[in-house]
Formats: sequence, C-alpha cells, structure tokens
Amino acid sequence: MKTDLAEFAAKSGVKYFMISFTDLFGGQRAKLVPAQAIADMARDGAGFAGFATHLDMTPAHPDMLAIPDPHSVIQLPWKPEVAWVAANPVMEDAEVAQAPRNVLRRLIGEAAEEGLHVKTGVEAEFFLLTPDGSDLADPYDTAAKPCYDQQAVMRRYEVVREIGDYMLGMGWGPYQTDHEDANGQFEMNWEFDDALATADKHSFFKFMVKSVAEAHGLRATFMPKPVEGLTGNGCHAHISVWDAPGDAARVNVFAGEGEGQTGEVGLAERGKHFLGGIMKHASALAAITNPTVNSYKRINAPRTTSGATWAPNTVTWTGNNRTHMVRVPGPGRFELRLPDGAVNPYLLQAVIIAAGLSGIRSEADPGKRRDIDMYADGHKVRGAPKLPLNLLDALRAYDRDKRLKSAMGDEFSAAFLKLKHDEWHAFTAHFSPWEREHTLDI
Ligand code: ADP
Ligand code: MG
Ligand code: MG
Ligand code: MG
Ligand code: MG
Repeated sequence: MKTDLAEFAAKSGVKYFMISFTDLFGGQRAKLVPAQAIADMARDGAGFAGFATHLDMTPAHPDMLAIPDPHSVIQLPWKPEVAWVAANPVMEDAEVAQAPRNVLRRLIGEAAEEGLHVKTGVEAEFFLLTPDGSDLADPYDTAAKPCYDQQAVMRRYEVVREIGDYMLGMGWGPYQTDHEDANGQFEMNWEFDDALATADKHSFFKFMVKSVAEAHGLRATFMPKPVEGLTGNGCHAHISVWDAPGDAARVNVFAGEGEGQTGEVGLAERGKHFLGGIMKHASALAAITNPTVNSYKRINAPRTTSGATWAPNTVTWTGNNRTHMVRVPGPGRFELRLPDGAVNPYLLQAVIIAAGLSGIRSEADPGKRRDIDMYADGHKVRGAPKLPLNLLDALRAYDRDKRLKSAMGDEFSAAFLKLKHDEWHAFTAHFSPWEREHTLDI
C-alpha cells in the first residue's frame, strides 16, 4: 500500500500533487502542491474557501481542509511528474458532512457493520466533440446505426488506445472499448471494484478522458443528452455485495444460498431485498443519479435515430433485457441503467448503498420481474411508477422520501436540495426561443 505521500514522491519522481475533492455538483477541485510541501499537507490538508465551490457554504465559513487519502494516489500517466490524490474535506476538525466522498465513506462503514461490502462497475459513456463543443469531432461518423462501428472506432484509435494503455498501466483491468449507439459516442470498460475505489476511478476516468481528448485537439463530454435525437450518455452501474472488502472478498452475498428459492435470475434473498430498496426509492434516487436539467432529456426521450434510447422511463426490473431500469444480466449482480453521465461518482455509489441497505433492513420486495420489451409494450405495464419527468419532479420525490434523505445524511440532503432547487430556478428563469415561438402570437 502506498501510504506515505512524501515517500511516494521520492520513489516515483513526482514533483507536484494535485489534492482533489469533489463538490455536490460533481466538480473536481484541486490544489497543486509541490512534493516538498506534501508531508504537512498530508497531515493538515490543503485549504479551500468552501463558498467558492458547490458545497452550500457561506463566505463566512472557516477554511475547509482537504485531507488527501494516500490509498487513492495515482501518478498521472500523461504527466508523470504530477500525482492526483482524492481528499476528504474537514472543517474545524470535523468531517464536512455534505462532502460527497465523506457521504460515501460513512455509508460504506454502515454497510460494513452489517457485514455487507458493495462492489460495483460503472460504464461511463462519453462523446468526442470539436473543442468548442458545438459539433461531433468526426464528420464522417454519420451512420444511422453507429453502434460498434468498426471504421469510426479506428478513426479514434489514437485517443482510445492512449486511455486504454493508461488503464492497463494503472492495473484497472480494462477489457473492451467500443463505439456506442450515438454518432461520436464511445465506451471503455474496466473491472469492478469496491465502491470507494470505483468512485475514485470513475472520477479519475473523467479527468483522464477529458485531458487526453484535449491533448488530441478534441473535447470529451459526459453530458446526459449532448445531441438532440441521438442516444444519450448513460452511466450504468453493476452491483454485487460481498462478505469482505478488497481481495479478501470470497462470497458474493447476492449469489448466495437463497438462489434456489428466488428464481431463475440468480439473485439471492438479500440481493432481492437490496434490489427492492433500489426499486422502492427509484423516483427519489433519480435526483442523484440524474442530477441535471438535461438528464431528463435522456430518460424521457422520444425514439432516437438509432431506434432505441437505451434509457428507462419506468421503474421496472427484468432478466437479461436492456429495456428496463434494472437488468439482471447473470447470477449474483444486477445492473442499474438509470444513472447518466452527469452523476456525481461518489453520490452514485452512496445512493446505491443507501437505497440497498434500506431495502435489506426492511426486507423490501422488488415486485415482479417483467419479461417484456419496455420500448414496445411499456404502455401496457400496470402498477409500476413512471420515473420523474424533470429535475423538479425528481427533487420533490427526493424531498418526500424521508428514509432515503436521512440515510444519505440530513446535512447532505438539505445542502443538495437547496443547491439543486437554485439550479432549477435558474433554468426556469431563463428565457428560451421555444417559449417565444409558441407564445408570441397567442
Ligand atoms: P454491459 O453489458 O452492461 O454493457 P459492460 O461490460 O459494459 O456491460 O460493463 C459491465 C461492468 O460490470 C464492468 O465494470 C464489470 O467489471 C462490472 N461487473 C461484472 N461483474 C460484476 C459484479 N459481480 N459486481 C459488480 N460489477 C460487476
Ligand atoms: Mg488565496
Ligand atoms: Mg457497456
Ligand atoms: Mg453503453
Ligand atoms: Mg450496461
């Protein structure tokens, strides 16, 4: 384990550390600290004015100190003299309760007390655009069904090869890259890990993809629906629960003894209850998994040019069928297809654990498995809630869900709701050409 950052710098030739924390909107904020100053910073933290970030603080708050977690340190593969390290925000010797990495760490601790260790993998889709973000970078990427397009992925080989090489070098176990279902869209997959490790990797992946794209004169975006009419950027999460963290994990609790009784999808009793929690809290947790105005253009989208949005609009689950909110692709895990590219990497993992633990504690029933094509026959489904139609709808659902709110933490929930309501108000206060076109001659 790399535990001493000063030693790490001396061994690896790192000149600067990027002490990084993530705010409520998923923004990564950092200070560059010379290696010779890292010993003090590792102990006392790097200072920030919290008000200057999205953490719901005032200018009068004392300094926030971001204490680096040495286990997370990564030497930037594209700039080896710099090392990125995720940090936990602290103020006046107390953890900042609403800081996303702290919310997640607290929930991981709660799950561990019940012998539950969540492991997840995420599929962070992205588009490659021109530097000003106005167009797809590849003018020849115009196929009506562009998924797995061999020619188009080769035209971006130098970008994805570079990212793939870096993931290999960091030992992430990358195993595939493809052109996704929208023109200009790509996905790169690596192996699942403990929830905190996946959240750190997910954050770093976004930083890395954006940095590499910029170095190639492009711009990468994880925006949920960057191009009207094309499939959006999902960020599916695959979830299993184990008997121990890290390499000590032996037994997948979701694939345990209960399997025989609970049917052909191969989810054990506790897996079904965990899934039951996700189903029960789905409309509320959408505020976290789909946290922007634009998010709802992905989950409530009309049919895309490729023929399917690949995003859910209803709270249903099924076996190996990609038209539902939850898919059980095989024994011992399930896939939550709701989250999008705007999701905060730490809050994604936190809300999965919060909802899942609530489900296990209350022995929640996920309801019946539905074996239909939701895109063709979704209108026939009875008794399954519709996902929120917009951000306000989701924020209200979150606000009504007392159990989820308190599981995520009262301070976190109050801060998140306040900042997100402000965002919604800013959006509705904005005048759009649409309303002029539709109202001018009324
Ligand atoms: P999809 O078929 O949904 O496109 P991908 O191969 O793109 O699937 O991504 C699957 C993700 O799920 C990867 O990150 C993979 O490591 C992860 N995964 C596989 N098995 C498990 C498991 N048991 N628990 C958690 N995550 C898993
Ligand atoms: Mg200053
Ligand atoms: Mg995938
Ligand atoms: Mg995909
Ligand atoms: Mg998937």
